Amino acid sequence: MPSAPLIHEPTVEITQVRELSRDLVVIPNRGVELVPNIGVIGGSHSVLVVETGLGPRNAEKVLAFATEYARGRRLYLTTTHFHPEHAFGARTFAGEATYLVNRAQAEDLAGKGPGYLEMFLGLGASIARQLAGVELATPDVVYDDEHELDLGGRVVRLRATGRAHSRGDQVVTVPDAGVLFTGDLVEAGQFAIFPWFPPHDTDVSGLRWIEVLRRLAATDPDVVVPGHGEISGAEVLTEVRDYLELLRDETWARRDSAMTEETMVAEVRALMIERHPEWVGQDWIEKGVGCFCAEHP
Ligand SMILES: [Zn+2]
Repeated sequence: MPSAPLIHEPTVEITQVRELSRDLVVIPNRGVELVPNIGVIGGSHSVLVVETGLGPRNAEKVLAFATEYARGRRLYLTTTHFHPEHAFGARTFAGEATYLVNRAQAEDLAGKGPGYLEMFLGLGASIARQLAGVELATPDVVYDDEHELDLGGRVVRLRATGRAHSRGDQVVTVPDAGVLFTGDLVEAGQFAIFPWFPPHDTDVSGLRWIEVLRRLAATDPDVVVPGHGEISGAEVLTEVRDYLELLRDETWARRDSAMTEETMVAEVRALMIERHPEWVGQDWIEKGVGCFCAEHP
């Protein structure tokens, strides 16, 4: 979701593809808003794609890349959560890949997908162009809490984290490579995306998000592929958690005072920008304040 005027079209470009490990590559988002980092993970007989890009045309590029990469191996697709730039290209993979997600995400996609499509279509011409003709997918396989996907000589672990950035977040781990795909539970170099849109969507939970990051840090991955931003090490999990905790503390310190909401947002925003002057997506701070205002220990 955009937080600043779009400079670039939200298009996936198959450039600077980075090999993180043998038979494991990432199509990087190049810092472009509404483009996610996309993973392609291979085993001896199957290949898993993580994220589709925004809409059918982006997904066509990803599918073409994955098909070529797979060289005849079977294709699977998963998405970290239902948000449009992550999952609104999944229909393009129908008949070509088995689409596999956690149950809470499948429910998000069915229940909130149409509303998000409408919201995104209103965000600007470049986004509407990418979403033209989009159809929302129905996953082929749905699991509850955890699923191990055998790609042949490599097992990938899909895990539902419980409600945090969305109600249906999942993370994807490649244990033999020490790689963790977090989706939007981590954004590197930008303020955490809080999809706090009352009354339509208030599923994001800053408090649960902090706990999820604590659990993920305990798994000590070597490489973290965030939803958006640079591929990082495990330290990014702590960095995002520290930010969320500071945002929580500064919000709660003001919430019960006589201060107006406007003043509170302005003060917290100024503090956060002072702490992270180089981060983009400053408009997400206010959404985060709104979310923490509604949460209690
Ligand atoms: Zn998201």
